[in-house]
Amino acid sequence: MTPDLECLNLVKRFGDTTAVDTVSFDVPRGSFFSILGPSGCGKTTIMRMIAGFLEPTSGDIQIRGRSVLNTPPNKRPVNMVFQHLALFPMMTIAENIGYGLRRKGMPRDEIARKVDEALERIGLPGIGNRKVDELSGGQKQRVAIARCMVLEPDVLLLDEPLGALDLKLRERMKVELKALQAAFDTTFIYITHDQSEALVMSDQIAVMNNGRFEQIGSGQDLYYRPASAFVAGFVGDTNRWSGQVTRIEGDEMEIRTDSGLLLRGASHGRPLSAGDSAQIFVRPEAIRIAHDTEELSHFDNRMTGRVASLLFNGAASRIIVQDPDGREEIEVNLPQSGEFAGLKRGAEVHIGWSGAQGNCFAAGVR
Ligand code: ATP
Repeated sequence: MTPDLECLNLVKRFGDTTAVDTVSFDVPRGSFFSILGPSGCGKTTIMRMIAGFLEPTSGDIQIRGRSVLNTPPNKRPVNMVFQHLALFPMMTIAENIGYGLRRKGMPRDEIARKVDEALERIGLPGIGNRKVDELSGGQKQRVAIARCMVLEPDVLLLDEPLGALDLKLRERMKVELKALQAAFDTTFIYITHDQSEALVMSDQIAVMNNGRFEQIGSGQDLYYRPASAFVAGFVGDTNRWSGQVTRIEGDEMEIRTDSGLLLRGASHGRPLSAGDSAQIFVRPEAIRIAHDTEELSHFDNRMTGRVASLLFNGAASRIIVQDPDGREEIEVNLPQSGEFAGLKRGAEVHIGWSGAQGNCFAAGVR
């Protein structure tokens, strides 16, 4: 099937700044696609080009197989939800949702039917006569989406729509947004700098850095098989060391960190040679903690250190272990069994992890 949206070698320059640097991707119909990246990496610029508010310097944007570059924003089969929802406060909820349909000249009874149907789908039937300020933040969010969805766009663009909500509501809306996308069966393109939002909701995520896509993949792909040091560091929590490759055997290698630790890791097929500057990433949950070194004998990275801090966070509690010389602090997840629940600051602990869990990348290479 033709993808809903296809961007081909998209470039946008503002004077000397290249905000979007040769980006290509396609989004299958009915999927949830997120663009995830730090502030200023070019996310909004891509959205504005898709919506038609900005003209690309070069490249093409196709929706359902047809270029939309010469189509003005209001004629594109695309709609956009902004962080500040821009609902009309003087209108009722029904008038807000029906606004775009009235502008299109749709008959009143048909508008009323579509508005009722949309209210049903967003799980707020019967609130059409209320005013905007009578709704909660989350309800307003759903109304803003319904207002776009009644226009039946092929693609809905969402620019950090949860940014203005408080933490608790944001957590709930992550789940609700995904459900709304499935209910409307429409392609959502979602931009965010929050990796947990992207991981929870998306079928596919593009990680963006400095105007380029570093990797496109599922949340699992990005988390377990990062293609670059940037992705490994940006998606999920991780320990990270810089150093130099001292020995290499196939995919396996030894790295002397700048602080003097000797760590074993794996390059997973990326080209690295002895003497190269490299970075090594290890997730806190990949590191085991044990009462004695015996239990860790099968790991090729082992260390005895002291607990520098305890970070209690319910199910995912974590400690920070300092190596004997105090050169490094290593984040380690505590097992959920509660076996180490009584651990105190300053206690001696043994930790170990497998070299295969140490993800190595050449420094400064994408
Ligand atoms: P944020 O998450 O902070 O919104 P972003 O990833 O959406 O950031 P963009 O707004 O796309 O980033 O900006 C990308 C780069 O392009 C930035 O360096 C920004 O300063 C620059 N830029 C964006 N719009 C313009 C403009 N109209 N004129 C000049 N430079 C611009």
